[in-house]
Amino acid sequence: MDRRKFFKSLGAGSLVAGSSLVGANTAFAARKIKWKMITTWPKNFPGLGTGANNLAKLINEMSGGRMKVKVYGAGEIVPAFEIFDAVSRGMAEMGHGAAYYWKGKIEAAQFFAAVPFGLNAQEMNAWLYHGGGMELWAETYQPFGLVPTAAGNTGVQMAGWFNKEINSTADLKGLKMRIPGLGGEVLKRAGGTPVSLPGGEIFTSLKTGAIDATEWVGPYNDLAFGLHKAAKYYYYPGWHEPGTTLECFINEKALKKLPDDLQSIVLQACRIANQDMLAEYTARNNQALQTLTGKHKVQLKALPDDVLTTLRTLSDEVIADIAAKDTLSKKVFESFSAFRKNVMAWHDISERAYLNARKL
Ligand code: CA
Repeated sequence: MDRRKFFKSLGAGSLVAGSSLVGANTAFAARKIKWKMITTWPKNFPGLGTGANNLAKLINEMSGGRMKVKVYGAGEIVPAFEIFDAVSRGMAEMGHGAAYYWKGKIEAAQFFAAVPFGLNAQEMNAWLYHGGGMELWAETYQPFGLVPTAAGNTGVQMAGWFNKEINSTADLKGLKMRIPGLGGEVLKRAGGTPVSLPGGEIFTSLKTGAIDATEWVGPYNDLAFGLHKAAKYYYYPGWHEPGTTLECFINEKALKKLPDDLQSIVLQACRIANQDMLAEYTARNNQALQTLTGKHKVQLKALPDDVLTTLRTLSDEVIADIAAKDTLSKKVFESFSAFRKNVMAWHDISERAYLNARKL
């Protein structure tokens, strides 16, 4: 007999009065709901893996101990890129990753992680929570029996680490760079050679010259990998990942089995974790940048305007190509693009104008 049926079968009076029932209730309370969260991150990886840990901790605490979510690193139960299918099949109740990893299955998923020259973190959250994005994301994952949530954001990333200067688009030609996803496709159209490498192989590949350049995340994670010991120049801005959203997707059947308050706790905990990761990245990138430029004398460089203009034009083409692939991608692209256009007009006179004014 499940818990709700059990309580339903009891009269309200007997719940209060029956001493044997108090015992039964206590015994029930001791039986925690145990969930598994499988992730695409190395276990405890700073920022991303620890973000998943924080989310689990929040759910455990907010549920008053009624739920116990245990986090598994990539490869502990299934390999990183198999978590989507595993949660869909119910092998685990939750997965923590980034939606662009599932592009082989669902093209439209890429809009919910990072789009080159797309939305920054603040704008992504605005589109998702108040601009129709969440509804589209739910529609995108619904056929897989998954409920998506935003569960973290890195903020604007860095363009990456280079051993030669990028002074014009000609310098991108033949450049062998670790840059995954849509950014990689853009680099390819600019004449470069994008390479996909897991995080753990980046440092050695750059150090030995197997690749000419790499992007990873930002100062916080890049410093942890020691990338400053393998490249001379640290370029900005991260045009390819302007505010990457991390996700937590939940097996819909498992979620619906929870009492209403626990369902709400799980979803609200994701929302808290989403905001908290951005705050953490902002604070730690700030600290790590001081270490990189102060202690390690890293040379910061801005990508030239004309290079960025070329990359933006190519990005628009790449994104338009996704929209042409299927009707759902077109629908998401149209919502995303309309939101971007309008929020740019607002942010030109708010965030941008303020940041410029602060420097005067
Ligand atoms: Ca990145």
